[in-house]
Amino acid sequence: MGRRPIILWGDPRLVAPNAPVEAFDQDLDRLITEMFETSWAAPGLGLAAPQIAVNLRLAVLDLSVGKDPDQKTVLANPEIIDREGQVSMEEGCLSFPGLFTTFERPQSITVRAQDATGKWREIEAEDLLAQTLCHEIDHLNGTLLIDHIRGLKRKMFIRRVKKLQQAGAWG
Ligand SMILES: [Zn+2]
Repeated sequence: MGRRPIILWGDPRLVAPNAPVEAFDQDLDRLITEMFETSWAAPGLGLAAPQIAVNLRLAVLDLSVGKDPDQKTVLANPEIIDREGQVSMEEGCLSFPGLFTTFERPQSITVRAQDATGKWREIEAEDLLAQTLCHEIDHLNGTLLIDHIRGLKRKMFIRRVKKLQQAGAWG
C-alpha cells in the first residue's frame, strides 16, 4: 500500500480511454486505498484512476481530505444523469500542479455510480461537491481542466504551464 505517482498534463495515459470497472475484488480495494492515500497526500479533494496511469472508470473523492471517513466516496463507472443551474468557480487539478482557472459548472447534479462493492447508488450534489464530481467524471471521459477554456484564456494558461516546466517546477 502507499501512494502512487500522479501523472501530469502531457502524459498520454492521462487522456487514454478508460475501461469500465468489472471486478469488485481485493485488487480493486487495494487500488482504492492507494488512490485515497495519494489524493490526501497531494493534497487534493479527489483523484481519478487515469491520474495514476490506471485507465479504469474509477475515481475517489473526499472533501474533508482524510479528516472525516464519512466523506470518502468511491465512484466506479459514474455517469451524470441530471444537471441544473450554472455557477462560475475556480478550479485546479493535481495533474496541473499549482495552476487554477475559472469556468462554469452546473450548480447541482445527480450522479449514478457503483461503490467499492459494485452496488449502484445515486448521489445528489451541489456547489463544491458537484464541481468535484464533475471534475473527476471529466477525467474518466478524457476531459481536462484545459478543455473548458478557450481563446486567450487558454493561451495564457498554456504559457503558465510552459513557464513552470522551464523553471523545473512542474510536478
Ligand atoms: Zn484533475
